[in-house]
Amino acid sequence: MARILIIEDNPTNLQLMVYLLEAFGHTPLEAMDGETGLELVRRESPELILCDIHLPSLDGFGVARQLKSQPGLRAIPLIAVTALAMVGDRDRILSAGFDGYIAKPIAPETFVAQVEAFLPSTAASSSTPPQDATP
Ligand code: MN
Repeated sequence: MARILIIEDNPTNLQLMVYLLEAFGHTPLEAMDGETGLELVRRESPELILCDIHLPSLDGFGVARQLKSQPGLRAIPLIAVTALAMVGDRDRILSAGFDGYIAKPIAPETFVAQVEAFLPSTAASSSTPPQDATP
């Protein structure tokens, strides 16, 4: 069970991620722009951060730059959730400081397992994954 911050400006994607994480016993925190996301990181100390790239006020690259330049915050796993439209986007995301990425569109059958792969094992869900989940 983990407290997971989601920074996502698309309400449909945000609600889907909230729903899936809650279904597996996690506690999602929500921000719809980069600046609010950074505030919540400082205030709530989540165990993992899921972050869209295209965001109002401060985009995902700006969020990564801020978080990874601060010793107290850089250890929190920061995962990009984004559509990789262009060749080279993956490298750009990882070189910007993200610890990993999950491709959109979000796949409900595998999303939580993808997220939990980035969590310390003690915080991972003990729930049985859906039977149609890809191992
Ligand atoms: Mn967006």
